[in-house]
Amino acid sequence: MKVEALPVTKGNYNLEDYEQTYRNFDWSEVEKNFSFSETGRVNVAHEAIDRHADSARKNKVALYYRDSERDEKYTFKEMKDMSNKAGNILKQTCDVEKGDRVFIFMPRSPELYFAALGAIKLGAIVGPLFEAFMEGAVKDRLEDSEAKVIITTPALLNRIPLDDLPALKHVVLVGENVKEEGPYIDFNSRMKEASKKLQVEWVEKTDGLVLHYTSGSTGKPKGVLHVHNAMIQHYQTAKWVLDLKEEDVYWCTADPGWVTGTAYGIFGPWLVGASNVIVGGRFRPEAWYETIEDYGVSVWYSAPTAFRMLMGAGDEVVKKYDLSSLRHILSVGEPLNPEVIRWGVKVFNLRVHDTWWMTETGAQLICNYPALEIKPGSMGKPIPGVEAAIVDDQGNELPPYRMGNLAIKKGWPSMMHTIWNNKEKYESYFMPGDWYVSGDSAYMDEEGYFWFQGRIDDVIMTSGERVGPFEVESKLVEHPAVAEAGVIGKPDPVRGEIIKAFVALRDGHTASDELKEEIRQFVKRGLAAHAAPREIEFRDKLPKTRSGKIMRRVLKAWELDLPTGDLSTMED
Ligand code: ATP
Ligand code: MG
Repeated sequence: MKVEALPVTKGNYNLEDYEQTYRNFDWSEVEKNFSFSETGRVNVAHEAIDRHADSARKNKVALYYRDSERDEKYTFKEMKDMSNKAGNILKQTCDVEKGDRVFIFMPRSPELYFAALGAIKLGAIVGPLFEAFMEGAVKDRLEDSEAKVIITTPALLNRIPLDDLPALKHVVLVGENVKEEGPYIDFNSRMKEASKKLQVEWVEKTDGLVLHYTSGSTGKPKGVLHVHNAMIQHYQTAKWVLDLKEEDVYWCTADPGWVTGTAYGIFGPWLVGASNVIVGGRFRPEAWYETIEDYGVSVWYSAPTAFRMLMGAGDEVVKKYDLSSLRHILSVGEPLNPEVIRWGVKVFNLRVHDTWWMTETGAQLICNYPALEIKPGSMGKPIPGVEAAIVDDQGNELPPYRMGNLAIKKGWPSMMHTIWNNKEKYESYFMPGDWYVSGDSAYMDEEGYFWFQGRIDDVIMTSGERVGPFEVESKLVEHPAVAEAGVIGKPDPVRGEIIKAFVALRDGHTASDELKEEIRQFVKRGLAAHAAPREIEFRDKLPKTRSGKIMRRVLKAWELDLPTGDLSTMED
């Protein structure tokens, strides 16, 4: 299949220069950008905040924050002071020590970032939890990690079953009129009095930094431990892939409850000293465009589900805003439909750059970096210093265009350190030949671009053909009536499996048998007869994780009347 490549639309990027510079790239070179290469003292929070606060950059804005009630900004110097204060509270009132798990369960706010950085400064391991988690999900994670402290808000307190969590000693409450009794500590009052001076705890590069539970798309979430060494890759990919420069105003829309919201919502941007925009509250197209216009956002990192919603809101809305500050747009979390890329070029005159990675990989691995020609539908190429391949179930490399396991050669700096409390699970990711096996199915073309097909378990075998659900879904969303689509294989006595599509329609379209047939024909003509869904079911919306991923296993379970499994990360 020949795909028209999209050249760079803005900026002065030269692929040859880029590849020349990085041909002999060695990760150990990256350390030279950090102060620890000279002092031997390691702590990400120091490199991300204090190093800038103690430099000529100290009065530069590090954090712009806003939601429906607040509108604030903090310089690097102020971030240093506030995170030191938060660190002092955790140290003095909660006895937090190196290696302790400190969980943060609250909506986005500046305090969330002060607390996270403060905990990291003490050498603690931060466990961020998305605010929408219900009691069961919160309990599972606090229990598994044996968290000692949780930082939360009074409104969320009823979702923390204190009596069932013997390891949990302190509850730090961020809110008004907090009464300090029992395990409760009043964060805001104590922040007023806390000292701005804090001795950072120097750790080893292999000491714990964050504990992220995965999104739960394919099953029960796993506790993935990352260590301070990950900063090497956060820094370098922030430069190469996010293309961040110190003068940039950067906006990552991900919540820190997911790995994107820490790796590229905290570490990446601040390690390179950029200004970081954080927006609280719910998604609304107008508010999103306003954010870009008001702050002059130049680099924007979001997810396919958000782009599809913006696309669905129509092109007229875009025209009301001055978005000329934008220079670079990126996407992560789910396959990026070619339709979204074409829409991006139309409305922003910019390409949307897909980036592929997972909680376990800790940072970006396969990307459309700025100098690369984009083939819409491909997640790009491995970044310098990363070796990827498609392997069979024995770890043998497969030739171009053969679908198989997407695998990465071990040895990139941000690889997970372990799966918390589950060494067996950790070991199950590796195959002979030092391959880390992602659980995703993909193929590589003859130019070395990788093409995501679906989760390994979601690949459909129909009449002897292997069909990746992503290709079918992407074709479906090209149809003008289709807003979103989730595709599964449904067992069939004759064909092995048939393709079944669940489709949410765009506003203004009504479900009918004619429309089903029209959509079917559309896929048949645009993709292949064997890839056209034999069954289509219309639904108001598709089951998704809180991070916006379509949960195909839930569609399948519903369809086949099977148990749905862990639903702790599902949207309402
Ligand atoms: P769980 O592991 O709990 O089932 P999850 O895999 O969705 O959940 P994450 O680590 O948040 O949890 O997501 C990583 C997965 O997201 C990848 O394995 C891949 O399937 C998908 N993904 C991420 N980025 C991309 C991308 N650019 N293109 C296609 N898929 C992507
Ligand atoms: Mg996963």
